[in-house]
Amino acid sequence: SSQFYEKSMSSSSKEELMIENDIHKALKNNELSLHYQPQLDIKTRKIIGAEILVRWKHPTKGYIGPAKFIPIAEESGIIIKLEEWIFDRALQEIKVLSEQMHGFMLDHIAINLSTIHFLQPHFVEKFMLLVKKYQIKPEWINLELTESGVMRNVEDAVQKIKELKAFGFSFSIDDFGTGYSSLSYLKELPVDIIKIDQSFIINMHKDQGDATIVETVVAIGQKFKLKVLAEGVENSDVLKHLTYMKCDYYQGHYAHKPMPFDDFVALIKT
Ligand code: C2E
Ligand code: CA
Ligand code: CA
Repeated sequence: SSQFYEKSMSSSSKEELMIENDIHKALKNNELSLHYQPQLDIKTRKIIGAEILVRWKHPTKGYIGPAKFIPIAEESGIIIKLEEWIFDRALQEIKVLSEQMHGFMLDHIAINLSTIHFLQPHFVEKFMLLVKKYQIKPEWINLELTESGVMRNVEDAVQKIKELKAFGFSFSIDDFGTGYSSLSYLKELPVDIIKIDQSFIINMHKDQGDATIVETVVAIGQKFKLKVLAEGVENSDVLKHLTYMKCDYYQGHYAHKPMPFDDFVALIKT
């Protein structure tokens, strides 16, 4: 309503409102696409999967990064419409991928899932309808939830994770180590992979503190029998450290930047 257009409105909230309106248009006008960033096994250096990352080409502003518009979409609630689009496109593409590969040869494709969306009452039923629509095997899909998001309602999250895991989906905890969360919730959370946040990875070859945190998280993962994935690997020194620490998986610019679907298909077919 017009009360939102008051003079006193800060320029940043005006921008947020603009972006929110523009997301509605983006969904209508097909301005969004999905990129795929390969995930690799540290021991074998083979591609084991990919993470889907949304891209938005705005008609006048050019590319807008998800780090900017996802938080705005979450605050306004439009994240639900946005992720309905993302999930529909993602499962459609994953189906094509499985056909192109003549069977699904990867461990999984990972999809980011906002807890705002996940904690909606009928998320599981809605998601299962989509999985049936595209005839996707749940084993193909890994869902990434952020540590801070899960903390909003651990009980509900755990219940839904269990339900979806019973179908065959797997889960990752994203941005691990950045929140105020305690370790105690790890034992409640039936997840498969811990993703160490890139803020600890990027400089771990130069920063002893970061290296110690990474080493500790890898040890925690091993104790809890979870796989550990390092994100934001940008050079060979970091990869060497991670190999030595026996981290399981990695992704990052050193291996591959996020790429359009067709490029990813071509890459894994070679
Ligand atoms: P994230 O899930 O932690 O994703 C990792 C981010 O790191 C991605 O940024 C990726 O492009 C970037 N990255 C990958 N490798 C490297 C590297 O070696 N160095 C550096 N410096 N960065 C690297 P992106 O694509 O801009 O996404 C930012 C955030 O937006 C994501 O962080 C995620 O929280 C959110 N996001 C992206 N796509 C989606 C989506 O489809 N749904 C939801 N809910 N959130 C999404
Ligand atoms: Ca992620
Ligand atoms: Ca992260």
